[in-house]
Amino acid sequence: MPGALDIAGNRLESDDMALIIQKFGGTSVADVDRIKQAAFRTQAEVNAGHQVVVVVSAMAGVTNALVEYTDQMGALADAREYDVVVSSGEQSNAGLMALALQNLGIQARSWLGWQIPIWTDNVHGKARISGINTENIVSRLEVGEVAVVPGFQGMGTNNRLTTLGRGGSDLTAVALAGALRADRCDIYTDVDGIYTSDPRIVTRARKMDRITYEEMLEMASLGAKVLQTRSVELAMNQNVRLQVRSSFVEDLGTFVVSEEEIMEQQIVSGISHSRDEAKVTLLQVSDRPGVAAGIFGPLAESSVNVDMIVQNVSEDGKTTDLTFTVGQSELETAVTVLREKQSDIGFGDIVADANLVKVSVVGVGMRSHAGVAQTMFTALAEKGINIKVITTSEIKVSVLIDAEYTELALRALHTAYGLDEDND
Ligand code: ASP
Ligand code: MG
Repeated sequence: MPGALDIAGNRLESDDMALIIQKFGGTSVADVDRIKQAAFRTQAEVNAGHQVVVVVSAMAGVTNALVEYTDQMGALADAREYDVVVSSGEQSNAGLMALALQNLGIQARSWLGWQIPIWTDNVHGKARISGINTENIVSRLEVGEVAVVPGFQGMGTNNRLTTLGRGGSDLTAVALAGALRADRCDIYTDVDGIYTSDPRIVTRARKMDRITYEEMLEMASLGAKVLQTRSVELAMNQNVRLQVRSSFVEDLGTFVVSEEEIMEQQIVSGISHSRDEAKVTLLQVSDRPGVAAGIFGPLAESSVNVDMIVQNVSEDGKTTDLTFTVGQSELETAVTVLREKQSDIGFGDIVADANLVKVSVVGVGMRSHAGVAQTMFTALAEKGINIKVITTSEIKVSVLIDAEYTELALRALHTAYGLDEDND
């Protein structure tokens, strides 16, 4: 079948040329030696006859240091200059990578965001990509030159340099993959893939061969540190095949792909958790129209991001309790804002609890299977773990539990859904 891909995303016909985006994260290009090592990964693809675009991050820690310089300069007056400063780590790495490739005898040149250009809006510090001119790069790829692109940067319609928000080099890579219709976008990082649960807690967690875009988006704790969320959304929209793989080992990583590519879908693909959870309960909230708007409006205005919300019907028709969760760093703001509005909103008291964890089971297979949540509740009950709040979406069931049960819950659920690796 022409165009068929093997599991690594390579065309099955070995003489077929593919276009591959290789993105190297900060730890993969953390110093000159590592840049030289990364260049060998590019050389391997070039030698296999492929066209390659390399996207580089700044050296690990450099962007933080640059942000810190702008802080030290005083209150931020001009975000355009902030972008000039913080984008520079990627720029120097792009030049260094081009040099490393040239030293291996590979034709290569750097393409800064404005030279391509990668067009964005003018929201400096977190600009959105609006379009990419691919002609120039394509003509050079066609004559066998490797394009090296600094991640994280673009050019606004004001002709000023912009940056795409922290972690934005992933976005650069995916956007280029989409615009160039690349066969594959390899994200080289310091982990070797996405696991069914946090392997530091669940020793029987397995590296997944494949995961769907939607699962990746839902499994924040497993994926978000590895791939920037916006880049996964873009990959899903543009149907870019992503591979998360390690720079430091040869093995294949985890492919992030569309649902159609996964034949034998597990019902539950992974168990994730988030420790950054705090719960707020408002007692005796008056039961009348407009109350929810009165509570969540002021929270939104104070940029408090609310996650789970639970409200019961009131027994007496007068008052009910309402519980919601926020990130731990936002708990104090949430409580302060609501106390200020206590008489306007009309409630009895506020109870806050920050010692919680959210555990989620995720899998696109649960769309077509019943009983998924029941397995979760039973497994937790058998361990004597009390569930405080439950929410569900089409492909996820989440529960809030006491933080001290995190490890126990993750392991029990991993076993209950048959995800354990047979390592005995
Ligand atoms: N260097 C930028 C950051 O640290 C972008 C990236 O590496 O993805 O946020
Ligand atoms: Mg990153």
